[in-house]
Amino acid sequence: MAPEVRPRLTVLSGPSGVGKSTVVAHMRKVHPEVWLSVSATTRKPRPGERHGVQYFFVGDEEFDKLVANGELLEWAEFAGNRYGTPRRAVLERLEAGEPVLLEIDLQGARQVKDSMPDSQLVFLAPPSWDELVRRLTGRGTESPEVIERRLEAAKVELAAESEFDTSLVNTSVEDVARELLALMAVA
Ligand code: 5GP
Repeated sequence: MAPEVRPRLTVLSGPSGVGKSTVVAHMRKVHPEVWLSVSATTRKPRPGERHGVQYFFVGDEEFDKLVANGELLEWAEFAGNRYGTPRRAVLERLEAGEPVLLEIDLQGARQVKDSMPDSQLVFLAPPSWDELVRRLTGRGTESPEVIERRLEAAKVELAAESEFDTSLVNTSVEDVARELLALMAVA
């Protein structure tokens, strides 16, 4: 009898600035059917970001409500803002047999692994620390204070790489996207 193939929840994590969003965007250009959960956040939109596309941008009170009502699969505070994964959409996709991808921070990845041990955690690492600093600074979307907080968080995230099931180094967006698709059994 063929083994049962169950859709898995894949979590992509890694330090801010490492290029997670770029990899995911490339992946979805090639495979538009790959579904990515849209998180809720209290962070203000960056230029070009749209409500319901990159994030659901919510106020503190609304985020409190999502937490209180158990509507988030996981949530965490990151560099002064809160971020969380809406639970229902993720569970619906998994029940429908579709692969699901979350792009979240280390604290969220740990929560997901605790509540859904079947999930696979993928760590995206920068080619080097200097390259990460260069990417984060060069993005030009954050103030020096925010960059400093994100670099502090990055040190913690890099130290936790061994907690992940798989590590990929972001030397080429195309290669990482291909590897991620293979891990999700989409390619
Ligand atoms: P950014 O502000 O750069 O969009 O995201 C900051 C960090 O929050 C990134 O590491 C990103 O992966 C993470 N993040 C985005 N959405 C979520 C979420 O729903 N939950 C958690 N725990 N982290 C998230």
